[in-house]
Amino acid sequence: MHSVEQLSTQIRVQILVRGIVQGVGFRPFVFTLAKSHALTGRVLNNTGGVLIDVEGEEGDVEDFIHNITANPPPLSLVESIERSEDLDSAHYTDFRIIESASDGDHLTPIPADIATCADCLRELFDSHDRRHRYPFINCTNCGPRFTIIENIPYDRAQTTMREFVMCDECRREYRDPLDRRFHAEPNACAECGPHVEFRKLDNAKDFQFGDDAIRSALASIARGEIVAVKGVGGFHLACDATNDEALRSLRERKGRVDKPFAVMVRDVNQIYEFADASAAEIRLLENRARPIVLLKKKPASELSKLIAPGNAYIGVMLPYTPLHHLLLTDTNEATSVVKTLVMTSGNFSNEPIVTDTDDALERLATLADAFLIHNRKIHIPCDDSVVRLFEGRELPIRRSRGYAPMPVKLPFNLKPTLAVGGELKSTFCLAKDDYAFMSQHIGDMESLETLRAFESSIELCEKLFRITPEVIACDMHPRYLSTKFAKSRAMSLSNNLAARHVERCEVQHHHAHIAAVMAENGVRGSQPVIGFSFDGTGYGTDGAIWGGEVLIADYKGFARAAHLRYVPLVGGDAAVKRPHRHALAHLWAAGVEWDEALPPVSACPLVERRIIRRQLETGFGSVPTSSMGRLFDAVAALAGVRQVVTYEAQAAIEFEALAAQDVSESYEFELTEADSVVIESSTVIQDVAKDVLAKVPASIIAAKFHNGVADVILKLSLMMREKYNLTQVALSGGVFQNVALLEAATKGLRQADFEIFTHRLVPPNDGGLALGQAVIANFMKSETT
Ligand SMILES: [Zn+2]
Ligand SMILES: [Zn+2]
Repeated sequence: MHSVEQLSTQIRVQILVRGIVQGVGFRPFVFTLAKSHALTGRVLNNTGGVLIDVEGEEGDVEDFIHNITANPPPLSLVESIERSEDLDSAHYTDFRIIESASDGDHLTPIPADIATCADCLRELFDSHDRRHRYPFINCTNCGPRFTIIENIPYDRAQTTMREFVMCDECRREYRDPLDRRFHAEPNACAECGPHVEFRKLDNAKDFQFGDDAIRSALASIARGEIVAVKGVGGFHLACDATNDEALRSLRERKGRVDKPFAVMVRDVNQIYEFADASAAEIRLLENRARPIVLLKKKPASELSKLIAPGNAYIGVMLPYTPLHHLLLTDTNEATSVVKTLVMTSGNFSNEPIVTDTDDALERLATLADAFLIHNRKIHIPCDDSVVRLFEGRELPIRRSRGYAPMPVKLPFNLKPTLAVGGELKSTFCLAKDDYAFMSQHIGDMESLETLRAFESSIELCEKLFRITPEVIACDMHPRYLSTKFAKSRAMSLSNNLAARHVERCEVQHHHAHIAAVMAENGVRGSQPVIGFSFDGTGYGTDGAIWGGEVLIADYKGFARAAHLRYVPLVGGDAAVKRPHRHALAHLWAAGVEWDEALPPVSACPLVERRIIRRQLETGFGSVPTSSMGRLFDAVAALAGVRQVVTYEAQAAIEFEALAAQDVSESYEFELTEADSVVIESSTVIQDVAKDVLAKVPASIIAAKFHNGVADVILKLSLMMREKYNLTQVALSGGVFQNVALLEAATKGLRQADFEIFTHRLVPPNDGGLALGQAVIANFMKSETT
């Protein structure tokens, strides 16, 4: 229609908004915005994002487009807006939200699960609200997302909420563009939605529902029992955090000796009774992902000592589902004594978290005394996330619920890629174009159950993100289950795609760490960085176990510029579980006598000592290692902190917590120039042994050691800057979960004017490995755009 009598210019354009725009209230936002600009047209979700077809006065359309980015809904993240050419008028007479369309294989980020919002919380405890005390209250700004999505576009019919038919009132809200539950896909109420149910293990007939179920669960916890509680991404085992007896039996049943449990508290005020929390840490706790935040424990509190024995930190989280709020805000006198709950993943050690109700009733029967279950299905398991505070922001330790599967935006494009990570703290990465989707935490890939959970999560995410891998990246370690999986997956994909060849790429472990921290910091990789990859274990190109590596690295490759002096790791795994063995090896390598007064010596029975000495002298049954993580373990053992560990990095974690704040002295690592620089640990071991024999407190030894590692990072950085004219330093690997070390290292580097890259989005430990693998595989195999 080109009518001459119109003075104003009418235009029609189509706009594709990409980013996190589905499941976050974007369409109602667009609807309201279009109305306010007197525009007509349509808005819909498609697999590429949100598609808007709009017509009206040219100036109004321009304002409208501007306002889309100016003030988008709180949970959304607009990555780009693509605008079409001007189109012929479609003669729209109104603005409407229409059903979703599926169009090919565009990439759409999927929102993470979001903690209950303030509006929903108000309604939850409002006795006049129709959702008063309804444990599944949610809206466009909160509720489950990733864990209930079966396919995209994100619509109720493609979620596990499909089986609940909305009642008239819920449907009205869902359809009303001005309601805050408009197209809230998991919308529900007590009338039509999921419900909770309580079952005692010893009384299979006595089921309770609704409020009765919640109160019975709480009463059970108050009596000191362990209750399996179904949550968003899986089951928790819950018990009273002040009850030693309950905790003792939880540890016994779970087969978990010392590894810390996390607690959940009603509100932040509660926290100060047992831990210190800065304003920045409170902000992390209240972040809508509601991660577990590691906080410094107070020396004395009501909480059981068995929650995090020997650990200076305690993992704390706030309630993130309506059910959690109901559990912790009970006003009943008999049960309101329970103010802090231990909440640990519902599984046996080394198995993935349980999600299915029937499965839980069977598999968790020996762990729990009772069950608080519900009938909303969990489609994909997702453990709680764990973070620490570093320089006011989060340092991810485990990136999972609330974060996954939010993408890491890359400064370049990748081919469709699957990277399978390492072995411990397994995650995978699916990448395409400039998005890298990091999966939730899957667990340690040491059991078939975990491998199965890994495979099924990959399968689901390939479908959700419409990615068929053309590149598969894995670790170099020949015996990792993930490497074996990558091989067979590449093979089967090649067979299926017939003509298309699937490239498989093995990536060196520590190179992947450095690439991960570069990629999440948006480094384009046009010049190499000085990469410090300090880690526990990783397979080196020479077959040794690396882990104290300085790599001059870009995405294409690396040169090993420096590394810790090799020391024999006697008996492999045994040395990891018993740090005193590795301490003996370090003493031997440094030429220090095995004096009975040294804790690792006295901790080692004479017979074992003799065997170890023979192995050290002959090299039999040992592998050379340059691991910095193991050096931390060895020095911690030497300082008398811990001789035997029951979970990974336990000695190093306790050693960090011990380090005194106000010590400026340090142990000095000497550097030997060879093909690559060798970082000598022998002088440090000699000095530590001297201090131990002189009865210097472990807190001072810990501080001097942390300072020494920070000093050698600076010394090597200066040396590499001199040699290669490089000014960017990247810090990655599990050792950099250590905030005391990070602080000391970055302080020195900053004073020397280096540009520093540390982890903020993915963990420095092996949970972040897959990101680096994905990027390297693309650069190594071919040029990327
Ligand atoms: Zn809400
Ligand atoms: Zn309803």
